Amino acid sequence: MKWNKNPTSKINRIRSWALGLIFAAMIVMYLGVILLYMAHSKILFGIFLLLGTLAFLLSFVVYFWIGMLSMRAVTVQCPNCNHYTKMLGRADICANCNEPLTLDPSLEGKEFNEDYNNKRKSAELEKKEER
Ligand SMILES: [Zn+2]
Repeated sequence: MKWNKNPTSKINRIRSWALGLIFAAMIVMYLGVILLYMAHSKILFGIFLLLGTLAFLLSFVVYFWIGMLSMRAVTVQCPNCNHYTKMLGRADICANCNEPLTLDPSLEGKEFNEDYNNKRKSAELEKKEER
């Protein structure tokens, strides 16, 4: 398989999402503190603090979700770099070397496409290929 976009594994991508959320939460809270000093608005500060807390909570949920996904993920040995990597769905990418991976023999040799992990989109793709 060859990939065409987003050269990173799904678990890695979700993890960077969660990390981004934590940074966003910190920035939002920091802005809240600045507003408290600049505008002396406790209401605005409260809103920003609440938003920041929500972003933190969301990132914890995402981290928890990664944990759940990792348990469901299949550990495979990458044929390219020989490292063990976890893959999700029919098609994923090696977390170590970004080699596209598949467990489905029918996808072997095809161009990597995220859509193979979506039932409806995958059916559409396969229909197109048959034509
Ligand atoms: Zn690899």
